[in-house]
Amino acid sequence: MNPLLEARNLCYTYGAGTPFEKKAVQNVSFQIAKGEFVGIIGHTGSGKSTMIQMLNGLIRPTSGQVLLSGRDIWEDPKKIRAVRFKVGMVFQYPEDQLFEETVLKDIAFGPRNMGLTEAEIEQRAHDAADFVGLPEELLSKSPFELSGGEKRRVAIAGVLAMDPDVLILDEPTAGLDPGGRDVLLSEIVSYHQKRGNTVLLVSHSMEDVARVADRVLVMNASVLQMFDTTEQVFSHGAELESIGLQVPQVTKIMLQLKADGYPVKPCLTLEQAVG
Ligand code: ADP
Repeated sequence: MNPLLEARNLCYTYGAGTPFEKKAVQNVSFQIAKGEFVGIIGHTGSGKSTMIQMLNGLIRPTSGQVLLSGRDIWEDPKKIRAVRFKVGMVFQYPEDQLFEETVLKDIAFGPRNMGLTEAEIEQRAHDAADFVGLPEELLSKSPFELSGGEKRRVAIAGVLAMDPDVLILDEPTAGLDPGGRDVLLSEIVSYHQKRGNTVLLVSHSMEDVARVADRVLVMNASVLQMFDTTEQVFSHGAELESIGLQVPQVTKIMLQLKADGYPVKPCLTLEQAVG
């Protein structure tokens, strides 16, 4: 594989040398190719947030390297800002960070800092709004007039508008109702299919990850426990449950049938089960 994003022995320790020292990520290595959709799962406190913050240069590894297109992102620390445009990050509850007078200005904020022409900035902002299903008439409103779900879309569009090579989303559907979650998830999938960018999705919903990811990376107690195709990872039901991860019920049933000798393919979602 010719990796777009690579982690080599990544380590991060909070409060090193103090009584509060905490090894949050230890010796994590992986390679991700252009265009892959990778799900990241793991119990709370397993190191997911710390790891993704290293991937876009928000925090610098205590040791180890992050390589983007084969180059260490910290090779020249003065250029780390450029990495944050290439590896776009949507934080949890990103709507808390909206601040511009209009939705359009908020979405255009990133592109405006990238040295683009006014026409390009407008185009990108409109395209990104379209990707997340924001109707044109909302673009001139204040973000604060919108519903919770709409604000979330504005915040995500702001990152998409930077057209990152890698898009990292940390629990993008948290706090949305089930309908809103499904719609947002399909918009992310359709963005990925149309753009062919690399997407990393951190989620506590096994069901969501099973539905959308090509490969799944499992973190457990600061180390990388598994990184394999979605089907392979979910075929290790007992191992996942032993580290506190709930496997989708439908997957469990199919795995049991398979163990009982039925010729079934262990499917991951209800849609797959009913064909
Ligand atoms: P996750 O995203 O999987 O919940 P985190 O990366 O947030 O995991 O946390 C990994 C470990 O690092 C946890 O034990 C957490 O308590 C600790 N940690 C996270 N952020 C900080 C911080 N700012 N200071 C000290 N410890 C932290």
